Amino acid sequence: MNLADHIRDIPDFPKPGIVFKDITPVLADPAALDAAVQGLADWARPLEIDVVIGAEARGFLLGPAIARELGAGFVLARKPGKLPHETIRAEYELEYGTDSLELHTDAVSRGHRVLVHDDLLATGGTAAALASLVEQAGGVVAGCAFLIELAFLAGRERLAGADIHALVRYD
Ligand code: AMP
Repeated sequence: MNLADHIRDIPDFPKPGIVFKDITPVLADPAALDAAVQGLADWARPLEIDVVIGAEARGFLLGPAIARELGAGFVLARKPGKLPHETIRAEYELEYGTDSLELHTDAVSRGHRVLVHDDLLATGGTAAALASLVEQAGGVVAGCAFLIELAFLAGRERLAGADIHALVRYD
């Protein structure tokens, strides 16, 4: 299974100059979906994960399936104002300005080993915000797992020291 064959480049989306990596063909194909979930779960299995944290919105697609493979739970990092219970917050930089992600205060237990997950690692701002939420909650970032890494944007440098894996890498 070559997952890259199921990732579609959409030039100039959502704005000029961006090549959007469309993962909907991965999700739509049973063998590709299975390879994505199993591939990330197989990598994370030795990390003894208690809980997977996924970023809104595309981190919600594979995250719960990976968690189930690992016998772990799944928690949601959402855009501000979306989570109903008490939350903690982490800000991250965008090209212009900042954005934030929130996590329920009781979503990650102290000392729990957490897998940070999103569909794609670009500049690393989103994943660094996820890691910050985990640490604020007293959890441990045991690893970071992505379907895609845009290696030329050097997101890994924002996650210094973390164990990072992506199934498809673009240099
Ligand atoms: P970053 O915070 O810069 O690492 O960006 C990662 C987040 O933005 C992920 O949630 C991705 O879904 C999204 N993203 C960034 N660049 C792209 C891209 N070229 N194609 C698809 N999604 C992207």
